[in-house]
Amino acid sequence: MIHTGQCHCGKLKATFQTQKTPEALGVRTCQCAFCRAHGAVNISDPQGLTTIDCTTGNVQRYTFALRTADFLICRTCGVYIAAVMGEGEKIVSTINVVGLRMKAFFDIEEAPMDYSAETPAERIERRYAKWTPTRFQNPDLAASNFGPH
Ligand SMILES: [Zn+2]
Repeated sequence: MIHTGQCHCGKLKATFQTQKTPEALGVRTCQCAFCRAHGAVNISDPQGLTTIDCTTGNVQRYTFALRTADFLICRTCGVYIAAVMGEGEKIVSTINVVGLRMKAFFDIEEAPMDYSAETPAERIERRYAKWTPTRFQNPDLAASNFGPH
């Protein structure tokens, strides 16, 4: 199944491919202050593939706390669409289905997640195990390091 989405103004686009149904995949609400401020509801599939399509000029990359990932925010409409980690062939992400308006995931029961006790090493290991392999259409972003910083 292929799910497509975009931020409010359409300058950041993402495609999410998965073999799983939305019910089987589930949705997560990270309880950190950033994710709650955006009302983010996230999905990932380590067997899936996410493709992100935007220009470097349209995306704000925000890093905070442990600086282990970049959070992608639209510079025009302010919507948070994804958190991205890694570089080269090892880029992974979790996408925000609310920000991307992927409606197939809107009525799934949310699982609240608290990652605040993780060490940096535990956090990185979990993300490589659970997040979605990710490609950027833009060559400058594809060649970028998304953390840890
Ligand atoms: Zn936008």
